[in-house]
Amino acid sequence: MNHPHAHTTLKIAVLGAGAMGSLFGGLLAESGQNVTLLDINDAHLEAIRRDGLRLRTDWGERRVTNLEVRRPEAPGGAPDLLIVFTKSLHTRAALSALRHLMAPHTFVLTLQNGLGNVETLGEFVAPQRILIGVTTWPADLVGPGHVSSHGEGQIRMMSADGVMRPELEAAARALDAAGLNCEIDRQVWTAIWEKVAFNAALNSLCAVTGCAVDGLGAVADGRALASQIVGEVLAVAHAHGVDVDAERCRAKVAHALANHRGHQPSMLQDVLAGRRTEIEAINGAVVAKAGECGLPVPHTEILLQLVRIVESRRAGEIS
Ligand code: NAD
Repeated sequence: MNHPHAHTTLKIAVLGAGAMGSLFGGLLAESGQNVTLLDINDAHLEAIRRDGLRLRTDWGERRVTNLEVRRPEAPGGAPDLLIVFTKSLHTRAALSALRHLMAPHTFVLTLQNGLGNVETLGEFVAPQRILIGVTTWPADLVGPGHVSSHGEGQIRMMSADGVMRPELEAAARALDAAGLNCEIDRQVWTAIWEKVAFNAALNSLCAVTGCAVDGLGAVADGRALASQIVGEVLAVAHAHGVDVDAERCRAKVAHALANHRGHQPSMLQDVLAGRRTEIEAINGAVVAKAGECGLPVPHTEILLQLVRIVESRRAGEIS
């Protein structure tokens, strides 16, 4: 593999180095950036410290050995760029342990799914230092120290306050030079809301039914429910002044329902493993935003309630 090297070396920390954080951190380190992974999964950290990060992508399988790894609360220097890749429900706890690493020059980027990520980061950093985006790269944690991804993805990002800054451009350049196809996009909220619509429909329906995405797509009721939820979410986006493209979004959902063979969305994987899901940041946030403008979103809300019930049962809290 032959990545073009970034012009400037940034000191980058990744908070939450699971599937996505390890993929991004690994590719950035390979491209010559100075990268530290921060996580609380000690087995994962230990495996990387011992053997490097085992990274499998379409470019082949290799070990990335120039990564620093440590727990968030450990002492360290402040990064130029902090990329937050915990699940959304862990962002606040993760950042709380990290206050000592935040300097006035530190910019914080979230590419997490859902809504409300900027608000959470805003509890820790000034709005001018928050970068927000969305990514279509997929990743799976195969085991401790071992991450895999396949296919091609991209990143779209912007500053949270919509102002162009040299630090935004430097971050985007570094991600792009790592092979992650990164573009600065002034319409980033369009991409974020379209992904929320996709996830609100497919993740929640798969989590409740236990179906893989193509299983859902094989039943007319599954397709109909997905379509109802997508319509509700896009209406809320419109009401908030976000210029979403309904046709493009519906085409992506239809493509996934027809083609994502055996794919279990992360929300279904979380439910099966007895973990809390990102439902509050996805369907939960849509219901809240709908309430602000008085729009009914009955299907999105019922799925929110059903996933909460399933979560409680799988976590062993109810029989
Ligand atoms: P993951 O569960 O694999 O990784 C999250 C990591 O955060 C774990 O390693 C966990 O140990 C760590 N973590 C939890 N609490 C922490 C804390 N307090 N301090 C430090 N680390 C902590 O999740 P993921 O699949 O990588 O997803 C991360 C985000 O990216 C989510 O918002 C997800 O929706 C989004 N996303 C995922 C994919 C994908 O294909 N996996 C694609 C696009 C977007």
